[in-house]
Amino acid sequence: MRHWPLWTLRKSALAYWLLVDACALAVVVHVIASSEPPAPDEIGRFAVIAATAGAVVIGSSIHSHRLGETERNPWAAHLCYLTAGAVALPCNLLVLLLFGPALHGVLAQRPESHRWVFTLSASALAVFGARYAIGWERPDPDLGVMVLGATVLLVVHAGVIAVGLKLRTPGARGEEVLGEQIDVVLGVVAVSIGGLMGVVALANPVHALMAGPPLALLERAAQLPHWRRSAQRDAKTGLANAVHWDDRARAELAKARARDRPMAVMLLDLDHFKRVNDEVGHLAGDSALSAVALLLSGTVRSGDLVGRFGGEEFVVLLPDAEPAIARSVAQRVRHAVADLAVPTVDTHGREHLLTGLTVSIGVATSRRFGYELPDLLVAADAALLSAKGYGRNLVEMA
Ligand code: GH3
Ligand code: MG
Ligand code: MG
Repeated sequence: MRHWPLWTLRKSALAYWLLVDACALAVVVHVIASSEPPAPDEIGRFAVIAATAGAVVIGSSIHSHRLGETERNPWAAHLCYLTAGAVALPCNLLVLLLFGPALHGVLAQRPESHRWVFTLSASALAVFGARYAIGWERPDPDLGVMVLGATVLLVVHAGVIAVGLKLRTPGARGEEVLGEQIDVVLGVVAVSIGGLMGVVALANPVHALMAGPPLALLERAAQLPHWRRSAQRDAKTGLANAVHWDDRARAELAKARARDRPMAVMLLDLDHFKRVNDEVGHLAGDSALSAVALLLSGTVRSGDLVGRFGGEEFVVLLPDAEPAIARSVAQRVRHAVADLAVPTVDTHGREHLLTGLTVSIGVATSRRFGYELPDLLVAADAALLSAKGYGRNLVEMA
C-alpha cells in the first residue's frame, strides 16, 4: 500500500482525489442504507439495461482484443447505460449498475488503479447528481427536466475530472483536462442514447434492448479520439508527427499568405546526440527527446505548431513572427535546452541526471522565402547546417 502510485500525487491533488472518492462512497452508502427493496418491475428494467450494457461492453471488449487494440476508452458506454439507470431505476439498483465500470476497471487491470477509482467516483457523483436534478424518488420524464439532468451529469463528470487533472498537472492544457470537442460530442450522444433507453425501459422494458446497437456504435466511436491521436502524434514525444505537422503547417501558411501575415519556420537538431545514446544509453536518449519536446511546447506560444521532424530533429512553425521575433524565440529555446537537466537511468540501471544538452537551430521567414513550405524548410535546413558548421549551440537565420 505504501508503494501505491496514488501517494506520488501532489498534496492538493491527493486531498481532492481522496475527497471525491469519499463523497462518492458516502453517496453510495446513503443510497443503500435509505432505499426500499426494489419491486419486481424495477428488477425487470434493471435486468434489461444491465444485460444490454453487459452484452455490448463484453462484445466490444472481445472485438477490440481480437483487433489487437491495447488501449480502450469505455467511459462513453458506461455513461450511456448509467444515464438509462438514472432515468428508469430506483437508486439502489442504480448503485448496482455502477458495478459495470467498477468491474471493467478490475478486469482491465489498469496499472494506476487510483485513476480508475477516481473516474468511477466522478461518474457516481455525476449520475446521482443528475438523479437529484430529475427527481430522487421518482424521475420526471418531462423533456426539459431530462435535458437538465443530462447537463448536470455531463458538467459534474467533466468538471470533477478536470479539477483533479489540473491539480495533478498544473501545467496541463485546457484540452488535456477538459477533453477535445469530440469528447463533448461523445458525452452528449452517450446521455441522449441513455436517456432514450431509460424512457423506453419505463414504458416497456423489453423494447430497451433496441438500445444495444446504438450503444455498440457509441462504444466504437468513443475510440476515435485515441485513433486520431495515434495517427497524428509521435508516440515517443506526444508532438505532432512529421506528416500531421506538414498538413497543418501548409494550412497555416495558406492562411498567413491570404492575410499577408509573417510566418517563420524553426528547424532544430540536437547536438552530438549520438554521444548521449553511446555514453548513457538509448533509454536516456529517449528521455532527453521527451524532455526537449515538453520544453519546446512550453517555451513557444500556444498557437505555434511544434512537431517532431525525425530522429532528434524538431520543427516549429511560428505564425505572426517577424524575423527579429523568430530569432529571439529560437535563442530562448536554445538557452532553455542548455539549462535542461533530465532525470533518467543509464545502461547499468543507475539514476543519471542528464545535462549539457545543446541544440542548433536554423530559422527561415516568409519575408525572405515566401509561403511555400518546401522553400522555407530547405532554407531553414541550410541555416541549421551553417549553425552546425560554426560550432553548434547556435541560432542561424536563413
Ligand atoms: P550533430 O551535432 O551533428 O547533429 O550530431 P548528432 O550525433 O546529433 O547527429 P546525427 O544526426 O548523426 O545522429 C543523430 C542521432 O540521434 C542518431 C541516433 O542515435 C539518435 N536518435 C535518433 N532518433 C532517436 C530516438 O528516437 N531515440 C534515441 N535514443 N536516439 C535517437
Ligand atoms: Mg540529426
Ligand atoms: Mg543531431
